[in-house]
Amino acid sequence: MSFADLGLSAPILAAVSEQGYETPSPIQAQAIPAVIAGKDVMAAAQTGTGKTAGFTLPLLERLSKGQLTKSNQVRALILTPTRELAAQVGESVSLYSKGLPLRSSVVFGGVKINPQIARLKHGCDILVATPGRLLDLYQQGAVRFNHLEILVLDEADRMLDMGFIHDIRKILAVLPAKRQNLMFSATFSDEIRKLAKGIAHQPVEVSV
Ligand code: AMP
Repeated sequence: MSFADLGLSAPILAAVSEQGYETPSPIQAQAIPAVIAGKDVMAAAQTGTGKTAGFTLPLLERLSKGQLTKSNQVRALILTPTRELAAQVGESVSLYSKGLPLRSSVVFGGVKINPQIARLKHGCDILVATPGRLLDLYQQGAVRFNHLEILVLDEADRMLDMGFIHDIRKILAVLPAKRQNLMFSATFSDEIRKLAKGIAHQPVEVSV
């Protein structure tokens, strides 16, 4: 099985091969076709399994087929529990989207908000964010989600452990109901299943 077999197009395949990836990891082989098909996906995968590319590559594939972003709007939102993970995921998004006309941005707390507000003014196709700072930005009118197509919760179990459930619920309340949902977690606990029930619509379950 190759990345081309999974339905990814030329610019993304070029970025993948530039990274030196030869074959898709098991999580990628399962998740990528489901995401490209527009399905909601709930995946149990630890760090190190290639989960970041597992959601980022098909997300880019889908966004590359649609309309580019307009001012203040975000088309894909990736929520992560920590600023370190946000930075890391943002780095992967930049690498994999090199050959595409998509704009991405990363925002997290603990740094000045004004430069983030300025960066978001013209919109971005992909926004990687930690929940608290994203809410601040939303409340200040710096981001709008009217055109949101895809929501990703990365390390959802850690987000619950860190007490982000209220922030996540506030964010969910301002997203369009019709959207694609991807949820990644190290394990599927009862709590995660409960959260998924309120978010995802008949998700494809992937586990490695
Ligand atoms: P992650 O599980 O997303 O944190 O990724 C773990 C590491 O695996 C990262 O350094 C990726 O660059 C690398 N990686 C992801 N997918 C592949 C692949 N298909 N082949 C080789 N390395 C990969």
